Amino acid sequence: MRNCREITELVSKGLDTPLGIGERLSIKLHVMMCSRCRNFQSQTQFIRKAAHRYTEQLQDRLDKKS
Ligand SMILES: [Zn+2]
Repeated sequence: MRNCREITELVSKGLDTPLGIGERLSIKLHVMMCSRCRNFQSQTQFIRKAAHRYTEQLQDRLDKKS
């Protein structure tokens, strides 16, 4: 069983690189039992989505200008 530190590291890593099935499974199993990591995961995913949307809008604006 992985500990919280490993799980948060995996979650952060998963934002930039695709995780292996074993890694994803470890996260899944862990967050089912650990609310701290569950919160961490949903927060990072939320921030990630917001940042992604922001870059898209920015890109859109730049495209229209040229
Ligand atoms: Zn945890």
